[in-house]
Order: sequence, then structure tokens, then C-alpha cells
Amino acid sequence: MKIPAVVLIKGVEWKVKRVWKLQVDGEDCLGSTDSDKREIKIVHGLKGEELLDCYLHEYLHAIFFEYGMYHSMSTDISEIISHNFASELRTNFTIKPRTKLR
Ligand SMILES: [Zn+2]
Repeated sequence: MKIPAVVLIKGVEWKVKRVWKLQVDGEDCLGSTDSDKREIKIVHGLKGEELLDCYLHEYLHAIFFEYGMYHSMSTDISEIISHNFASELRTNFTIKPRTKLR
């Protein structure tokens, strides 16, 4: 699956970058969301369902931020929702990201 380089969330551009190594708070991770830079980062090497789940998970974190929900929910709740919604979206919908923004 091809992950888009840019997504629009509430009209705001978020860049999606692939990186070779990713750490958050000193721990290795597969994806991250940087609300200051409006960037979603995903490590190289993920493929198929793992890549789509990671992308959707981080995309949901970005949606929470743009819609003002990120700071009103606990980290645990944010992680549970992102993890499970990503899995449900992948399982139940055919998702074809736009490759170019118009
Ligand atoms: Zn997360």
C-alpha cells in the first residue's frame, strides 16, 4: 500500500514521512505524531497490514489533535481508540489514499 506524503485534516496539511529510526521519550516506536510540525512519522520496513495499521493509528492521533480532543483525553484512552479504530477501519473498509492533493 502506498502511504500519502501529505494528508489534509480539517483543512490543515500534515506531512507523512518515512524514517529509518524513531524514538519517542527514549523508546523505539513504529510511528509518531508531531503536532508542532504537523508531521506523521512511520519507520521504514513496515509493510501490508502493519504499515496501514501504523499509518491509521498515527492519522487518528493527528485527527484528535486538529479537532481539539488530544489534550482532553488520557494517553491510554487515545492509544486504545487509535489502535482499535485503525484495526477496524482496515478490516472493514477498502482504503485507497490519495496520492496527490488538489
Ligand atoms: Zn499512539
